[in-house]
Amino acid sequence: MVKLLIKDGIRLDGRKPDELRKIKIEAGVLHRADGSCYLEWGENKILAAVYGPREALPRHIQDSTKAIVNARYNMASFSVEERKRPGPDRRSIEISKVTSEALEGVIFTELFPRTMIDVCIEVLNAEAGTRCAGITAAAVALADAGIPMKDLPVACAAGKVDGTVVLDLTSGEDKEGEADLPVAIAPRTEEILLMQMDGHMTYKEFEEALELALKGCKKVHELQREALLNKYKDFEV
Ligand code: ADP
Repeated sequence: MVKLLIKDGIRLDGRKPDELRKIKIEAGVLHRADGSCYLEWGENKILAAVYGPREALPRHIQDSTKAIVNARYNMASFSVEERKRPGPDRRSIEISKVTSEALEGVIFTELFPRTMIDVCIEVLNAEAGTRCAGITAAAVALADAGIPMKDLPVACAAGKVDGTVVLDLTSGEDKEGEADLPVAIAPRTEEILLMQMDGHMTYKEFEEALELALKGCKKVHELQREALLNKYKDFEV
């Protein structure tokens, strides 16, 4: 059976290949956390909260040269169509690890030796691309918490569907398409903080997808900046 995910250059949800889903970002939504962010990206709904830097305990986990960045990605049991068993699984442990590493690439961790910076990412509703949405929300929450960073990280995926390179895959495109390439960058320098790939692409398609993902990241970065400016616009300096 041939599945048509793109017809006459238009995807099933009406987007062109290089179009993002609708994105809404709000900074500082949780008052008890040091920093927070609520993000909607298509049907994805994500809350990110930052606590810290706080003293890392037990003491043997402390690093005397830098802070430990401890990101925890969690999918709520009601976030997917069939109830997900609560608690960590292989996938969430992997996403937590790659997210911690991506964020560590921009945080000035050496300013806070022996501490831990907790980043909680709660996926309330999932519809593909949650690791990118999670990193994007976490970045805003970190900035909201006043954690010093050399850049505001951002993530976006590209991929290949029906032989076409497309930006920001939906769940159907992720499942039925040929490849998915989530990328996180530090937008100022375009340093790659995360890159993973599922499926197959030729090298040329990979280059095209990477370029598209970077363009997507730049657009999402503007929305992150707007969300932060929006929260702090009324503060006196
Ligand atoms: P990402 O969300 O970063 O794209 P994956 O490619 O692993 O990560 O997952 C793609 C999508 O598959 C998720 O966004 C979610 O919509 C769906 N999914 C993931 N895990 C589950 C699960 N346990 N049950 C149902 N759907 C899931």
